[in-house]
Amino acid sequence: MKDNLHQQRRKIAILGSTGSIGTQALDVVRKHPALFEIEVLTAQYNDVLLIQQAIEFKPNVVVIVDESKYQSVFDVLNPLDIKVYAGKNALVSVVQMESIDMVLTALVGYAGLIPTIKAIEARKHIALANKETLVVAGQFITDLCRQYNVDLLPVDSEHSAIFQCLAGEWHNPIEKLILTASGGPFRGFKKDQLSKVTFREALKHPNWSMGAKITIDSASLMNKGLEMIEAKWLFDVRPEQIEVVVHPQSIIHSLVQFTDGSIKAQMGLPDMKLPIQYALAYPNRIVSDFPRFNFAQYASLTFEEPDVETFKNLGLAYHAMQKGGNVPSVLNAANEVVVEQFLKEKIGFLQMSEIIEACIAKVHYIAEPVLDDYISSDEEARRIAKELIGNH
Ligand code: NAD
Ligand code: MG
Repeated sequence: MKDNLHQQRRKIAILGSTGSIGTQALDVVRKHPALFEIEVLTAQYNDVLLIQQAIEFKPNVVVIVDESKYQSVFDVLNPLDIKVYAGKNALVSVVQMESIDMVLTALVGYAGLIPTIKAIEARKHIALANKETLVVAGQFITDLCRQYNVDLLPVDSEHSAIFQCLAGEWHNPIEKLILTASGGPFRGFKKDQLSKVTFREALKHPNWSMGAKITIDSASLMNKGLEMIEAKWLFDVRPEQIEVVVHPQSIIHSLVQFTDGSIKAQMGLPDMKLPIQYALAYPNRIVSDFPRFNFAQYASLTFEEPDVETFKNLGLAYHAMQKGGNVPSVLNAANEVVVEQFLKEKIGFLQMSEIIEACIAKVHYIAEPVLDDYISSDEEARRIAKELIGNH
């Protein structure tokens, strides 16, 4: 990306501004009014927060995906000269606005795919929080970025860590990427304990405060599985080059091992504002007043192997990554369905992996999917996952 940060304000669209990543991104923007300007804000349901954000940041356009909220948003923002659109198709058109420099994809799940594609086609740089997009269609998205000469800048803390470790090393081959995982709230649990956990317990993450879907994914280790696939595409490595290590303190955010055996790590307190800010300001580092890490407060940083016997999702995601084709998109769709049903107490914690595994076995394999195949695989996997839950 051109280093234009200090010449003119970078104009940003935030898809999913009312969520955990979206609100933290606005915290960063609020501190740096000379560097960033908000062009677009979007939300699914939360009209109240969207209105409040729009009054503060004065975007050109807002989108409320839930059309039943359109009138309430319009009534407040139209007199302020802020354009208001509704519906998911509006996301697809606003990301192509001439005035946008960068799109932060902070919406959750498969819904990020098409808006991200449209933003890349309009040559917008992408600050990617929505990892599901790369899980579903990694080959397609990375090819598209090359075609349109667009940067795909990671926001996920592990991938931001790796990206930061690679700065100045782009020409040096990677031997291995080591993704750190906190282990989530159920680290050390065995199957009999996991069979009884509730969604409320799963929502209590030890180190990070995040949206509901990714918090459940963290408890089930699916988040780390999705992140392996995300890493494969972002850094162009083979599955065998990706390793996961459990590091409960979440201070080392991930590591790169080079061919000479040297390992670089990026560390800091767990705070998503740092990777968000790194992506928004890339290639510059800009000042922050985030609390600093203090060695005296951490007598030890510990590491252990993930328990892949108990937490099946890591193995399922690895299998999906190796098999490639439409399998990761099936994994993702099935996971979105089971997480939703687990949150509604329709299925238990362990059933989530069982249904995902059964779903992968049932959806027909496509080795070299085109975009339509990703879309139809997603639909088929959702249908089958729902059927399997109905039969449970
Ligand atoms: P969240 O649930 O807190 O927020 C999601 C946002 O997207 C909200 O603004 C919501 O209105 C919008 N949204 C939800 N569904 C939508 C839909 N179908 N169409 C359009 N908009 C929709 O989620 P989050 O925790 O901020 O996570 C966002 C993304 O960032 C996810 O892909 C997640 O995996 C990734 N991520 C999050 C964190 C974190 O700390 N929260 C860390 C790393 C990566
Ligand atoms: Mg992460």
